[in-house]
Amino acid sequence: GIQLENIRKHYGDHVVLDDVSLDVEPGTVTALIGPSGAGKSTFLRCINLLEQPDGGTIRVAGHTIEPGKNIAPKDLARLRSAVGMVFQSFNLFPHMTALKNISFPQQRVLGRSKDEADERAMQLLERVGLKDKAHQHPGRCSGGQQQRIAIARALALDPSIMLFDEPTSALDPEVGLEVLAVMRELAADGMTMVVVTHEMQFARDVSDTLVVMADCKIIEQGDPRAIMSDPQEARTRRFLRAVL
Ligand code: ATP
Ligand code: MG
Repeated sequence: GIQLENIRKHYGDHVVLDDVSLDVEPGTVTALIGPSGAGKSTFLRCINLLEQPDGGTIRVAGHTIEPGKNIAPKDLARLRSAVGMVFQSFNLFPHMTALKNISFPQQRVLGRSKDEADERAMQLLERVGLKDKAHQHPGRCSGGQQQRIAIARALALDPSIMLFDEPTSALDPEVGLEVLAVMRELAADGMTMVVVTHEMQFARDVSDTLVVMADCKIIEQGDPRAIMSDPQEARTRRFLRAVL
């Protein structure tokens, strides 16, 4: 699981995360919602230290990191390999086939042989329904297909946690559904997931915990259906009115 305690982050005078704490139980899905600029992406990026918090404690998959202090490269590498991340923009390598996009990082990061990595890549392409695209370049795949390749690439490093930052918001609605279907399966298989999303139906059906961020803080969290039907905070009500 993940435990974040009192995470603080500022850019210059501008506070972005103001003592944010969150517990994510292993095998659960947490949906993170809230208005633009609330700090959702920054918070997600602090979990795997793509963004260095100014203070607080991060515990991920049994490793503890205190970002205010110096972080040993070994600890950073362990943290990064435990946490997979999928972004709004797919960030695939354009000059590599789908297969190689998924195989290459396994060879680089995990030291797997090419054969072993290719075999795992094919399994994952099958899992996301794209075995027939193995030898295509990303430019020849639809946005939804590219995002599913990006998910397969993250899964290939055997993470125990997956972070998603608005994985469908760059996609047409029907295409987004293919990606959400893959994410639903991952959740059903017991993957620990934190998902920043505006897909309220996905949040309602799939997440175990809904977390609402506004103005650099978590303002409300709990059962998704309970929060959606009876939000306690005025800012949550305002946000839900805008997206539902
Ligand atoms: P959105 O829904 O639009 O994606 P968000 O909740 O993900 O919003 P963040 O991207 O985390 O919000 O940004 C939170 C605040 O931090 C914003 O005010 C943003 O302008 C600021 N911010 C983010 N990254 C930087 C940066 N690298 N330098 C300065 N300010 C930043
Ligand atoms: Mg964001």
